[in-house]
Amino acid sequence: MKPRIAIGVDLGATTVKTGVVSSAGKILYQNKFPTNAQSGPPAVLKQIETSVSEALTHIDGKKAAGIGIGSPGVVDDDGVVKSPPNIAHWDEVPLARQLQKIFRRMRIRVENDANAAAIAESRFGAGKKFDNFLFVIWGTGVGGGIILNNRIYRGPSGGAGEIGHCSIDYNGPECNCGNRGCVEAYIGQRYLSRRTAEKLKSRPDSKILELVNGDLSKLEPMYLAEAAQKRDQLAREMLVEAGTLLGVAIAAVMNVMDLRVSIIGGGVSAAGGFVLDAIEQSVKSRVLKPLQSDIRVLQAQLGNDAGILGAAGLVL
Ligand SMILES: [Zn+2]
Repeated sequence: MKPRIAIGVDLGATTVKTGVVSSAGKILYQNKFPTNAQSGPPAVLKQIETSVSEALTHIDGKKAAGIGIGSPGVVDDDGVVKSPPNIAHWDEVPLARQLQKIFRRMRIRVENDANAAAIAESRFGAGKKFDNFLFVIWGTGVGGGIILNNRIYRGPSGGAGEIGHCSIDYNGPECNCGNRGCVEAYIGQRYLSRRTAEKLKSRPDSKILELVNGDLSKLEPMYLAEAAQKRDQLAREMLVEAGTLLGVAIAAVMNVMDLRVSIIGGGVSAAGGFVLDAIEQSVKSRVLKPLQSDIRVLQAQLGNDAGILGAAGLVL
């Protein structure tokens, strides 16, 4: 029997990446095209079509199980993508229906990108061993996905898992979403840059400034991770503090959902065990007693491939 394969599309604000993925979770081929996000939905759709069509030429007659797409924004059950950040003029776009018109004979599924990454870790990565877990993706912003009984929990309108917008302080800093004190407002790019800038005033020894060529507005959490790996003390302190704050929100989810395992992906997760330890300590100290001894915070395993793998996993 031939192994089943599928097409997985990772739609980002900068690039559209498409892969041919085996049912064992191996990316057999992949390409990358610019998203042209500033040109609006028709231009973005064209780029997806180009990327998928090109990938399909590499399949050599093998039958694909379908096309899965991981997209930013909230995705409803009909594959309508709503308000993805950083794509211009995109309010609501029926992406699944539009792609179905182009790829008529293919099965098409669209899912939120963080949910797709959670599915990837569940099927092929750090979540394989666990039936239930909370996935957190920590990069410029903070997203998440909830895996229950080995399936993604989407909620009635597909918006479940938005841990980045759990508020941990009703008087906290303003978030992009309009709320105050969201986890993302503390550990996302915007706030971390400001906070690091403040701290750098009294910490001239830090190497963080060099990493962003002196422009702190470009400070992504990823750069803190890089500095921390080079043993920069300030970067480590910032990440431990941020990890502790993230742990507050994770603990709330664990208590509500009766979950024990959290898997952390995104640019920061590679910083090292000390960040995961900080998150785990924070979660453990806040969950209810019966959960405490089983709490585990683990690093995601699939890195940048999670988007393509999870998208393909939607149809495999
Ligand atoms: Zn928010």
